[in-house]
Amino acid sequence: MKAVCWMNGEILPADQAAVSVYDHGLLYGDGVFEGLRFYGGVVFRLEAHLRRLQRSARALALDLPYQAGELARAMREAVGACGAAEGYIRLVITRGPGALGIDPRSCGRANVFVLVDQLTVVDPAVRQQGARLVLSSLRRLGPDGLDPRIKSLNYLNQILARIEANQVGADEAVLLNEAGYIAEGTVDNLFIVEDGVLATPPVSDGALDGITRGAVLEVAAELGVPTVERHLAAYDLYNADECFLTGTGAELIPVGSIGQRRVGIDERPVFERLQAGFADLVGRETQREQAGVEGDVVLA
Ligand code: PMP
Repeated sequence: MKAVCWMNGEILPADQAAVSVYDHGLLYGDGVFEGLRFYGGVVFRLEAHLRRLQRSARALALDLPYQAGELARAMREAVGACGAAEGYIRLVITRGPGALGIDPRSCGRANVFVLVDQLTVVDPAVRQQGARLVLSSLRRLGPDGLDPRIKSLNYLNQILARIEANQVGADEAVLLNEAGYIAEGTVDNLFIVEDGVLATPPVSDGALDGITRGAVLEVAAELGVPTVERHLAAYDLYNADECFLTGTGAELIPVGSIGQRRVGIDERPVFERLQAGFADLVGRETQREQAGVEGDVVLA
């Protein structure tokens, strides 16, 4: 794959794309982004990602300089230029260059870029054995702070949690919310299986409304696995039969342990069905898009 970047309308080799040192995205983390995957040359759930991006931008009073359809075309163009059928896309909108000082009114036009590259977030051994999690001492921010539904360029809350995980040799950290319930991982949503029921925290507990999370809930419904969105605490992790994480980068990753405790049983029957079901869903949607003419994306 040739890593490429669509930058404000122009395709460049990724290592030649750059933004100004005055860009408030760089200076203050002022901006929004999406991480997407493409399979067989087709971007998975493109519209859902664009809808989430639009909402994140609106929440930050950030005007997108392109319509959803134009952003969709930019992504398809960049995917076409990379020469690979599968890979990862980072769509980034920064506030744009402005004066020193946080006031966004000094910024001119937002910068938009689409970076297409490979992303390996999970070691194959971890996929096999299950991720080692730690409960972070950091709390996921509440809706009265930086609302966790905003996919912003500021990931310091999660980065601090990931540093804690790194320091104890774990693969991922789980963040609780201020009430002590599980919100999510640093870059993924969390699920457990207990007595055959698939459970995940509601988005209102501080989780991003993950596209993979949504797809997994759909797959569970198709397979007849009962699902519930409810508060989960550390107690529920310790008592889970199975536990796993979901995200665009990671797809579905089983969890092997939390702190020093093994989570669940060694077999993961529900996880395996959901993982196969997810691969099947991706395959079906990819084929459908490949067969049809890719229409314009217009969001309500
Ligand atoms: N939570 C956070 C904080 C994330 O950054 C991500 C990755 N975008 C997720 C959850 C998973 O979301 P998705 O399935 O849409 O990638």
